[in-house]
Amino acid sequence: MTRVYNFSAGPAALPEAVLQIAQQEMLDWQGTGMSVMEMSHRGKAFMSIAAQAEADLRELMQIPDNYKVLFLQGGASSQFSMIPMNLLHGKGGADYINTGAWSKKAIAEAGRYCDVNVAASTESDKFTSVPSQDELTLMDDAAYVHYTPNETIGGVEFSYIPQTGSKPLIADMSSTILSRPIDVTQFGLIYAGAQKNIGPAGLTLVIMRDDLIGDALAGTPAMFQYATHAENGSMYNTPPTYGWYLAGLVFQWLKELGGLDAMAQINERKANLLYEAIDNSDFYANPVDPGCRSWMNVPFTLADPDLDPLFLEEAEAEGLVTLKGHRSVGGMRASIYNAMPEEGVQKLVDFMAEFEKKRG
Ligand SMILES: *Cc1c(COP(=O)(O)O)cnc(C)c1O
Repeated sequence: MTRVYNFSAGPAALPEAVLQIAQQEMLDWQGTGMSVMEMSHRGKAFMSIAAQAEADLRELMQIPDNYKVLFLQGGASSQFSMIPMNLLHGKGGADYINTGAWSKKAIAEAGRYCDVNVAASTESDKFTSVPSQDELTLMDDAAYVHYTPNETIGGVEFSYIPQTGSKPLIADMSSTILSRPIDVTQFGLIYAGAQKNIGPAGLTLVIMRDDLIGDALAGTPAMFQYATHAENGSMYNTPPTYGWYLAGLVFQWLKELGGLDAMAQINERKANLLYEAIDNSDFYANPVDPGCRSWMNVPFTLADPDLDPLFLEEAEAEGLVTLKGHRSVGGMRASIYNAMPEEGVQKLVDFMAEFEKKRG
């Protein structure tokens, strides 16, 4: 068996230790004689898996008791609709900060339900920065403020949490959740598709303040109401059980590593290593304002784009895969989520230096 270093933006690499536990437990989860995939979601075994995963996540992120944790389906993209459907609470508009491709999708979807005030946009600088707090123009009567703390495609990340007064702050943390400690009390709702930093695709995590639950728009389907899932412990219907279990294994892996403080130190080292390699070369370039560079997604270009296919081919031969950049940005993108080991980034940096020496 050969494992590669997988720099995919999502679905992304999972910690090898987690996959090994899943493999050991595949046929017989802890003496039940069955796989987690085969269990009733209402049985004792799965209920204990579900409760442990939630407890571990609460501990890792220090989630206060007045926040619900929901284990849903539908991806982050369904949240683009669920948020306006549930959180307008009688108001006619919401503030959205536009920092890239995912912000734009959230804005487009919200526009179906309310007036969207774009509180700031960095589109004119091709999404290579984020607005400062001073640059945000928030509406007085907005129901909430939505932003994307880490833009997965552009590779820009907020280094601060926007202050929104009494309006709840909503964050699409799909590609940054669990990468470092955050103060959950600053947020009304946090959501994330699992397939970047939590577990396999098919699970979507929502962490929301409980006073925001209820009062959805008339006609909102039961499955699209947070209240439905909050009142039923995310078991109104069959939840994504195997994803929930694997997420739980990832949470345990993070706890054993020393929690989010320890994870943040590792992530910062990985990002610095890669950005320094890019900045110290005339051959590689990253367009993002250094103050807004993502720890998780690092786009970079080669001085000669004609060499892109060769770079990808030679990298793959070294076991460094899925480095092709998003089609809207071009070049390369290395996604270095929690599960990417430091050795993987070191190997990439060494390969980049070697490639530059040979072909640059
Ligand atoms: C990947 C991603 C999404 C889309 O997630 P799905 O689960 O595929 O719907 C949304 N927002 C961000 C920031 C992402 O990185």
